[in-house]
Amino acid sequence: MVSVKTMFRIILLGPPGAGKGTQAARIAKRCGIPHISTGEMMRAAVVGKSALAKQIKAALDSGKLVPDPLIVEVVKARIQKPDCKKGFLLDGFPRTLPQAQALDRLLAELRASLTHVLEFVLPEEELKRRLLQRGEKEGRSDDAPPVIEKRLKIYKDQTRPVSDFYRRSGRLQEIDGLGSMDEIERRIKIVLGK
Ligand code: AMP
Repeated sequence: MVSVKTMFRIILLGPPGAGKGTQAARIAKRCGIPHISTGEMMRAAVVGKSALAKQIKAALDSGKLVPDPLIVEVVKARIQKPDCKKGFLLDGFPRTLPQAQALDRLLAELRASLTHVLEFVLPEEELKRRLLQRGEKEGRSDDAPPVIEKRLKIYKDQTRPVSDFYRRSGRLQEIDGLGSMDEIERRIKIVLGK
């Protein structure tokens, strides 16, 4: 029998501090697909003195989102690279409804669609605790206490509509984000079948 390889085009949703980055890296490795973190891409883009770099840095430092057209262009270019032919995992995108709609349009143009939309769910108090801990450990400027509050608020205001969008179209699968990284990984493996 000819074995058909499963295609994985995954997006990971969930609030800051949900453990998306760690799980994204593990899933991407296991599935043999590129891990595309828009947050990492933005942090890499602030080096330099261009107006664009400054605009991105201002957004990052204040915890705000960078403008939709900018991030959509970045993702569009990235997922058309040859390594994404075998699938991809998007971590941190889409974060707004227009981004989610732009992604659907782009994938339709490429005659492709998402295979998995996973959302990490966990209580706000736990998120705050984890973000404060990460801020102390990694020194990330956007994990400072006032910025944490802002990022969580932005998540509620702008990113919740994204989960609703996928839920309405029957694509959203929720993952309990409480527990150890290994426990969460096991839950994801069950959903992905891998
Ligand atoms: P993250 O590491 O995913 O929390 O992203 C860090 C920062 O990068 C965010 O607070 C935003 O300023 C920016 N960023 C990352 N992904 C997006 C996105 N999809 N839309 C807008 N801004 C983004």
